[in-house]
Amino acid sequence: MKFIEEKAKQIPLYGEYDVVVVGGGIAGIAAALAATRHGAKTLLVEKQFALGGLATLGLVTIYLPICDGCGRQVSFGIAEELLKLSIAKGWEGRYPEAWLREDSTLEEKLKQRYMVEFNAQMFMILAEQQLLRENVEILYGTSVCAAETEDKKVHTLFIENKSGRSAIRVKSVVDASGDADVFALAGAKTVNFSKGNILAAWYYGTEDGKYMIHPIGCCDVPDNEKDERKGPELLSNRRFTGLDGKELSEMVEMSHAQVLNHFTAGGKGICEGHMITTIATIPQVRMTRRPEGKFTLDVTDDHKYFEDSVGLISNWKKPGPIYEVPFGSLYGQDLKNVIAAGRCISNTDNMWDVTRVIPCCSVTGQAAGTAAAMSDDFDALDVKKLQNALEKDGVVLHI
Ligand SMILES: Cc1cc2nc3c(=O)[nH]c(=O)nc-3n(C[C@H](O)[C@H](O)[C@H](O)COP(=O)(O)OP(=O)(O)OC[C@H]3O[C@@H](n4cnc5c(N)ncnc54)[C@H](O)[C@@H]3O)c2cc1C
Repeated sequence: MKFIEEKAKQIPLYGEYDVVVVGGGIAGIAAALAATRHGAKTLLVEKQFALGGLATLGLVTIYLPICDGCGRQVSFGIAEELLKLSIAKGWEGRYPEAWLREDSTLEEKLKQRYMVEFNAQMFMILAEQQLLRENVEILYGTSVCAAETEDKKVHTLFIENKSGRSAIRVKSVVDASGDADVFALAGAKTVNFSKGNILAAWYYGTEDGKYMIHPIGCCDVPDNEKDERKGPELLSNRRFTGLDGKELSEMVEMSHAQVLNHFTAGGKGICEGHMITTIATIPQVRMTRRPEGKFTLDVTDDHKYFEDSVGLISNWKKPGPIYEVPFGSLYGQDLKNVIAAGRCISNTDNMWDVTRVIPCCSVTGQAAGTAAAMSDDFDALDVKKLQNALEKDGVVLHI
């Protein structure tokens, strides 16, 4: 690759914040809510013009279970709050009636999981209104593109948007970019997902007047994990890192072609009652890059006690497993004031497939946002104080 030198120039200071949340997906929404609720002056920076990330713009509209599949609720706090918010205006598939009613029995809860399918557009507006009500400043259409550090702390983030390039002074940062962008930009050690992503092409259409999702390119099965699901039909043999601009463009182009292919395969053509209504407007990548955390969570940590647990998550793939999420899996040794949330926390490749889903992103988002409001040095933070704050906010920490 050829390189050219960019001339140093003075750039405007956009503002100074206690907490900057980078990325407005589910993890970023949860983190921003947690940070503002703990008194932090909070800015959420999002490169698209809507909230929700993969869950809304990526059309992944299934809020996977916050229960263990054995009738027990696992994730609480903002994870449950966002699930309820996603269906607050009444549009939903798979309404979890037994879980939302107080007098339901274990038997009833065993018949359905505590999950929902939501309307993406509704959820992105409701989430935006919630953040604004709670004094989170949102800056849309803005990419964080550089970070400056001193003594292992990021003190300035550089952003680019319609106004050009500007800078933000920060006390602490939540990296909810999905791809550990802040860790990478600040020069911290990161790890890429070894296998790369399969091609996905989820889209919505109407079929005989019925509005429905088509989850094309369903999901991947890790090589070394015994999995009883039917193997997914691959749309392409190509794998995508999700970390290269040109590659992401090609991935989206291939995905668009697959949508059209799938839609026209029925032979009905475009007519009343049969049309594509929504396609994803961001690339549908699952696992890309994560920081090398102080701790790296693995699938074998099922039902393991972690003294520094900041919340509980279940395994969407099978009933039974429950994981305590150690605080150490959210930050690394290289940066004191940057914390990960969502699909870029520190876990092994196998565990990644468990933690990347919406409920887990809310759990880690809430923990990261709360920690970021409390400290700008996560290694020095009194974890007991953080845990007390999370418990007060409804989070259950241990199994
Ligand atoms: C095809 C597919 C199917 C899936 N199925 C399900 C499912 O059925 N149920 C489920 O629960 N989960 C599912 N998942 C996983 C889940 O949707 C995501 O992993 C989860 O929503 C990720 O949330 P997040 O907030 O961590 O990241 P993201 O949703 O990726 O959000 C990151 C946000 O950060 C923004 N951003 C990124 N970089 C920058 C930057 N430098 N500056 C500013 N903003 C930035 C992005 O625009 C984005 O909005 C699926 C994923 C895929 C791809």
